[in-house]
Amino acid sequence: MIRLLDAETVGQIAAGEIVERPLSVVKELVENALDAGARRIAVGIARGGLESIDVWDDGCGIEANDLALAFARHATSKLSVAQDLERVATLGFRGEGLASIAAVARVRLTSRPGGAETGLRIEAFGAELSAAEPVAAPPGTRVAVSDLFATVPVRREYLRSPSAEFTRISTFLATLALAYPQVTFTLAHDGRQVWTLPGSESLEQRLEHVFGPAAARGLIAIEPVEGAAGVRGFISRPGFDRGDRRMQLLFINDRLLRSTLLAGAWTSGYSTFALSGRQPYGVLFLDLPYDEVDPNVHPTKSDVRLRRPDRVTDAVKRALSTTLARDAAARLRAAISFAPGGDGGSNGEGNSEGNGARAGTGAAFVEALVEAPHVPSVLAQFDSTYVLAIEGGALLLVDQHAAHERIAYEAIAERAQAGAPSEPLLLPYVVELEPADVARFETVRETLAEAGFEAEPFGERAYRVLATPAGYAARAFRLQPFLADVGDEIPGLSARERVWATLACHSVTRAGERLEHAEMSALVARLMRCKNPMHCPHGRPTMVRIEPDAVARMFKRT
Ligand code: ADP
Ligand code: MG
Repeated sequence: MIRLLDAETVGQIAAGEIVERPLSVVKELVENALDAGARRIAVGIARGGLESIDVWDDGCGIEANDLALAFARHATSKLSVAQDLERVATLGFRGEGLASIAAVARVRLTSRPGGAETGLRIEAFGAELSAAEPVAAPPGTRVAVSDLFATVPVRREYLRSPSAEFTRISTFLATLALAYPQVTFTLAHDGRQVWTLPGSESLEQRLEHVFGPAAARGLIAIEPVEGAAGVRGFISRPGFDRGDRRMQLLFINDRLLRSTLLAGAWTSGYSTFALSGRQPYGVLFLDLPYDEVDPNVHPTKSDVRLRRPDRVTDAVKRALSTTLARDAAARLRAAISFAPGGDGGSNGEGNSEGNGARAGTGAAFVEALVEAPHVPSVLAQFDSTYVLAIEGGALLLVDQHAAHERIAYEAIAERAQAGAPSEPLLLPYVVELEPADVARFETVRETLAEAGFEAEPFGERAYRVLATPAGYAARAFRLQPFLADVGDEIPGLSARERVWATLACHSVTRAGERLEHAEMSALVARLMRCKNPMHCPHGRPTMVRIEPDAVARMFKRT
């Protein structure tokens, strides 16, 4: 028998698509605040949002007559006629946000519009809606959500820990804030202020917040490019890259979208510049005419349909490749004019112009850019142990194990100091230790956990390995050899640093291991970006540089 569902069930079905987890609530509420023209948005979370979510803004507020209507499904102030759907200029437009949240949680909304003397408060929970009551309130709107999924407890089972849910919220908000640099965002968790992004700060500071200081330094701004009007943003220089596309952020008309939408444009924009199969990162802002973007294709509005997708992809590709070519040319010019013995130096400005012109614009020019000084160009592997490369006219001999150790050590130390989370293993494995090793392991277990290696006791002498430092999951990590080495003194390192150094040593490429060309390029490029690229954590050299005159002497040319 077919029957029509009652209104409450219909509401819960619709809500299920929109409110999946605490982050979904934050997203809907913050979008409403932005649509209301807020300059300050404060978000307070308790227990990852499982206990409560509180979003306060100083936007235009809601008029008394509209309060109850705000909770009705398909009730919105943002569209009036069907044609408006063809040129949506606001983040919200379906009038489903508040209704969906109230269908699965308790909502208390307090609002005071600009002209009003006091505020009004209204509460909604499932099908219930209270009468509005006057309360003292600052201008703007505050929405407090609690008892999330009280009406659909099964949803709670799909949630992660409070800290994991909070991390999603924090990452989302900081990322969204990139498109709204004039708005002040604050985020608190369990009563503690976690971060503030002041509306007065530069976009560069927000980039640092989202990408981290080291990665932000690798970003360059997209400058206006002919044929790519409406494309803005920041992209990583060649040599700065990641293992995945997660940090290819995309905003279209200030709406944060699934980043893979323009994945092809990133790849082809970088094609002549990429050193290996790794992924560039950055953020793109596309400003398109509203009637060329249809945001009404996805329940959480995280995808859009473009009227002319090919044109958009082409424009992005062009903006990326032109920006990279310009940046590489500028660095090449700077490198030539400051090269010792070169004809620059005395007058950097004037000479750099001249040199740039001489460099030409053909295919050889692009080659020269890619192999510009400071990006050593890898020639070959030697004795399965060393990488041969050319840098700035000299020959480099890089010890692959020592180099990899240095890179891994700095990554481990950085993440341990930043308290970054480790990478959980898909399939935890169990190791059994000798009694002597158990004692040794227990003394370093905490320090290892800080560095991203997590294991828990699993029976008498056994441990279950749950996580390894991010980025090294691909290499099998063997605990016994590690424990055999971890006690060794390493001059100049504290006990904590010694554990990290040993961890680095055991997570990386060994001597005698064959490497692909792309791996060698990535290895050398990353070594050059280390704080201390010259030595491994044990103090052995990572590379030896052989200058042309040393070679000339070998051939008795001098
Ligand atoms: P939508 O955002 O799609 O319009 P919502 O259910 O999220 O739907 O909100 C319904 C209406 O309530 C909005 O159209 C807006 O008029 C009003 N509203 C919601 N949140 C706010 C806010 N923070 N400030 C001002 N008005 C708001
Ligand atoms: Mg909304």
